[in-house]
Amino acid sequence: MTNKELANLIFPNITKTIEDYEKLYPERNLKEGAKVVRFAPSPTGFMHIGNMMQAVINFVLAKSSGGVFYLRNEDTDQARTVDGAVDFIHHVLNYYHIKPDEYEYQGKIVGEYGPYIQSERIEIYHTFVKYLIEIGRAYPCFLTKEELEEIREYQTKSKKRIGIYGKYAKCRDMSPDEAAKRIKAGEKFVIRFKSMGDFNKKFVFEDLTQGKIEFPENDLDVPIMKSGDLLPTYHFAHLVDDHLMRTTHVVRGNEWMSSVPLHYELFKTFGYKMPKYIHTSLILKKDGDTIRKISKRKDPEALMFYYEEKGYPILAVIDAVLTIANSNFEEWRASNPDKPFYEFPFSPKKMSVSGALFDLDKLDNISKNYISKMTAENLYQEYKNWALKYNKEIDEIISKHKEDTIKFLNIEREVKKPRKDYENYAGIFDKSWYMYDEAWNRELNYNLGKVKDKDEIINIMEEYLNNYYNEDDSQEEWFNKIKELCLKMGYQSDMKIYKENPDNYKGSVADFTTVMRVVLTTLDMTPNLYDIMQILGKKRMLKRLEIFKENY
Ligand code: GLU
Repeated sequence: MTNKELANLIFPNITKTIEDYEKLYPERNLKEGAKVVRFAPSPTGFMHIGNMMQAVINFVLAKSSGGVFYLRNEDTDQARTVDGAVDFIHHVLNYYHIKPDEYEYQGKIVGEYGPYIQSERIEIYHTFVKYLIEIGRAYPCFLTKEELEEIREYQTKSKKRIGIYGKYAKCRDMSPDEAAKRIKAGEKFVIRFKSMGDFNKKFVFEDLTQGKIEFPENDLDVPIMKSGDLLPTYHFAHLVDDHLMRTTHVVRGNEWMSSVPLHYELFKTFGYKMPKYIHTSLILKKDGDTIRKISKRKDPEALMFYYEEKGYPILAVIDAVLTIANSNFEEWRASNPDKPFYEFPFSPKKMSVSGALFDLDKLDNISKNYISKMTAENLYQEYKNWALKYNKEIDEIISKHKEDTIKFLNIEREVKKPRKDYENYAGIFDKSWYMYDEAWNRELNYNLGKVKDKDEIINIMEEYLNNYYNEDDSQEEWFNKIKELCLKMGYQSDMKIYKENPDNYKGSVADFTTVMRVVLTTLDMTPNLYDIMQILGKKRMLKRLEIFKENY
């Protein structure tokens, strides 16, 4: 029996050739320098911040080069597939507007290079495996789990390299006749690649981030097709898919770096050009005094649910991700505050090799800045969208008081240095609850300062609200009136004079306005009091004075 006959015995239904696929998926007709990149997560878990970094990098590489960004569902590990993981990937890419140009979802294929789901590409993989068997570069291996375990144990004990190579590759030289006999007898087998590499020889690989790296050649006969579901292993699918989908740049986790010698040999065996590689580093987190790998189990921010639930603006999250992806992003952003992120000239060389430190404080800062630059109407809309999904109570309140909410959000917004109060939409209500009468049913904690006497406070408020406050006053008029009343009641309106002889007065104008602020909001720090009073109006302010009388 020839290798060809053995290949036919294993794949009797495969009639296409690798040349057929070559024609079916021709070189892409793109302009010089256009990058074809893919985001290729395995649906074995929910999309995490490391995946997000890869997706964003891919998106930037494609957009900035006039290339193609496609999504490939790498579902060959069917036993570990997690329900909902694929939906979540599509959701995240949509939510952040980093949509792939080509993908396959819910029965719809967009793009000419699909299917984009690996489990639907089985015929293609089999064609390529069949070809390797025909040319004698792949073979059925009948080693059982126990035998493999035995080999591994022996190698571990005797400090040998682990794997199936040399004398451990027991089926490598089996004759096609014998292989055929065992297959016909129903024995289980995997297909292994027949390596021709020499571990003692070296080759140089160039990673776009990590530079030139010397590797020993691969000499492992790794499985390329599993028994059972007959799906390919990652390594083989990588070769077939990235070749046929005409990928120019592979952005993938650093954990694949050690497989480079194998991938190098696989591409060489078929005579295909290897794509360029960008191996991304781990995402790290500061935990007390130590820095460790971010953990899906321990750190809620590791999974992409977190950012949406908290209501971080999508562009803030993307900027935070690019900040850790490229060391010069922050500088670029500072000089290009309004440019779309995908115009950033991403450089693989500026990626961290040892690990990217992700810091939520940094995200908060980026986000505060973004939110401070939104219009109040815009912010209201985003806040409402968030509330609609994550907090019905808040949604009800802010929808009922839409106008006041927008007015409140607009306080000190359209100015040169806008306030930076909010890092996410989930945090807004906690900093604005006092503007809604419905929210005053909580335990009230009046954060008073120097002036604490209840009668004095009531006196100030009654005098002010009944005899001074006028809702038509400009901010200047408003403040002049406060100063007038403050002097009349034994406080000093001029801070300089006050500081010279503080004992001569009951307090300063600041102490005086603190009283007003606290009675009206319970807090000693809020956005501009004049605006808050304008929104509340006299009637509600009087009501709050009543609440103060009852609760303080
Ligand atoms: N499916 C692989 C993973 O999730 C992708 C690696 C790659 O991008 O090539 O790790």
